[in-house]
Amino acid sequence: MELKLISYDKNNLKSIDLGDNVIIDRDRLTMIAGPCSVESREQILRTAEYLKSLDIKIMRGGAFKPRSSPYSFQGLGFEGLKYLREAGDKYNIKIVSEIIDPRDVEKAYDYVDIFQIGSRNMQNYSLIREIGKVDKPVLLKRGMNATISEWLMSAEYIALEGNDDIILCERGIRTFENYTRNTLDLAGVAVAKELSRLPVIVDPSHGTGRRELIEPMSRAAITLADGLMIEMHENPDKAISDGFQSLNFTQMKELVTRIRKLHDLLAK
Ligand code: PEP
Ligand code: MN
Repeated sequence: MELKLISYDKNNLKSIDLGDNVIIDRDRLTMIAGPCSVESREQILRTAEYLKSLDIKIMRGGAFKPRSSPYSFQGLGFEGLKYLREAGDKYNIKIVSEIIDPRDVEKAYDYVDIFQIGSRNMQNYSLIREIGKVDKPVLLKRGMNATISEWLMSAEYIALEGNDDIILCERGIRTFENYTRNTLDLAGVAVAKELSRLPVIVDPSHGTGRRELIEPMSRAAITLADGLMIEMHENPDKAISDGFQSLNFTQMKELVTRIRKLHDLLAK
């Protein structure tokens, strides 16, 4: 594996400055939360307000949803991005959202603070090359069938186009195990940190597919990862997508309190 641009360099670890004192790097714990899908303007405004009260500075929400079935909800598209931007501006919270088509990158530019490349698109080379030309950070999720090398190589593709503001996100891989939706590969996180200079975060929602496993895997993850991305919904049982792996607002508050305490202990 030839990593020229993102290879580990202890004197040059990547620090991504999003402005307003929001920095993603290996020196702090980054928390990202929000619904799987953007469902309505009111939902997004309420979510942003709540996250703000928890001092969570980055909100997620999918406007373009790459669903396994073409009959499932595909997202609100640009309308959804507009709601995210409005909420982001109103509550001073950064926005991360997935883009699935290279033709949308330019149009989406003003709406997001971080572009998300989803698991299904990690090896969509025309898309990741396009994202590499942009001067905004990229959250690169690991392909569910991708090896660690393939994941890092995709990051290398992005960096090669000029954009090395990349956050790697481990979100579980497919294995024979089917009690969990995916198998969260924490060894992959350790390897990604050893081989690259990028921050690496973990998504325990997609990584397990089970709400009750979000907290235990978050605890395990922050011993080595630089942050967490967690799905949260005001009423998970009514969520249009991925409610079964989403926390409600109160559960999120409890998790964040405990995770921050643990992180402080680990940092000592
Ligand atoms: C998501 O973050 O909502 C998502 C679709 O994740 P993944 O690409 O990891 O499946
Ligand atoms: Mn989801």
